[in-house]
Amino acid sequence: MKEILETRTVRVGENVLIGSGHPIVVQTMCNTHTSDIEATVAQCKLLAAAGSQLIRITVPAMADVKHLEEIRSRLRADGVNTPLVADIHFSSEIAMAVVPVVEKIRINPGNFHPDHEKARALFGQFLGLCKQYDRAIRIGLNHGSLGKYIVEKYGNTPEAMALAAMEWVEMCIEAGFYNVVVSLKASNTVVMVNAYRNLARMMKERGVVFPLHVGVTEAGNGDSGRIKSCVAISTLLEEGIGNTIRVSLTEPPQNELPVAQYLAHRYSSAPSVSLGEREETILKAACDYGAPLLNHEVDDIPLEDEYLKDEILQACRRKFYKPEYIACPGCGRTLYNLEETFNRVKAATGEFKDVVIAVMGCIVNGPGEMADADYGYVGEGAGKVTLYRKKEPVLRHIPENEAVDRLVELIKTDQAK
Ligand code: SF4
Repeated sequence: MKEILETRTVRVGENVLIGSGHPIVVQTMCNTHTSDIEATVAQCKLLAAAGSQLIRITVPAMADVKHLEEIRSRLRADGVNTPLVADIHFSSEIAMAVVPVVEKIRINPGNFHPDHEKARALFGQFLGLCKQYDRAIRIGLNHGSLGKYIVEKYGNTPEAMALAAMEWVEMCIEAGFYNVVVSLKASNTVVMVNAYRNLARMMKERGVVFPLHVGVTEAGNGDSGRIKSCVAISTLLEEGIGNTIRVSLTEPPQNELPVAQYLAHRYSSAPSVSLGEREETILKAACDYGAPLLNHEVDDIPLEDEYLKDEILQACRRKFYKPEYIACPGCGRTLYNLEETFNRVKAATGEFKDVVIAVMGCIVNGPGEMADADYGYVGEGAGKVTLYRKKEPVLRHIPENEAVDRLVELIKTDQAK
């Protein structure tokens, strides 16, 4: 392992410290509806007991701010003190409304307003509030949801992602607000690794290095999701880049924690975790071979298990032996049974080669987030689905029970052309 990147230390709540010499902080996110207070409180308790040091909850509507408040006070009354992170998309009003409620707020300031100057002004106001309440924030930019202004100005490359983040980093520095974590996630492991490397370099050159929240977004599920996350996250942690991690899986969120805990222990003084033999073999191999493959130091790996070898090679984008799947982990915005649908899509499309298929939980963020996908299956709500070809919606309002078959037809028709 190279030297750990020297960062500032961010404090979330009373005692979660993120940065530099502190052990890597493990976190996950609820996939319950925030309006379902009972279910969200129960899930937070389960995640806290399983070792999640921060728990993120989506706040899709202003009405959910009250729900979040209630969730937090019930947790605190029951002695669960894990800091909560509000996940905000687009609305600066909601972002500002949750500041008094939770310890940390995740935002993409570029999406605060379509007019970039207005977005900057709103971000300035938001920082003022966070300072007043002594909150932490995460500036979270994902490949695929960079916003029109950013893509027009910088493009859509890993370097552009880092440059876009630097604009907000600079605003935090100018405002004298340093309780900041930054993330630049992507589902493509090469893009993700390069984006973080660029950002680490740029912050170092700037002389202020905020801690990094590292993760592969929409990694999918099962072995593939775990391997994709491990190859990319371990490559960065190996270089000393990364202070808090989330392993996003399209599975119940508690399943993410042992994988994240394995990584945190392997690359810092975080406590160890006990895993099944098979899972440990998979995670270890993904971490051992991820960096050499992603860095093109080797072209092949000495694994006898052909399946595991193919999975690791595909996660590192060195061989494509099956379709590339992108699936969001689901959250309080998810509009159908994501896990079950994703498994049905995988079973029905496994024969296709050289395609990227995305399965996304909601129409608000799904289309933007699925970045490189050739085809997308996106929940609309009320039992309906929209199917996408690239970024274009091509079939709308398809009943859920027909949507997988229609997706297969669409791919077959395109491939026959
Ligand atoms: S795309 Fe998935 S994870 Fe992202 S906001 Fe929508 S449902 Fe939640």
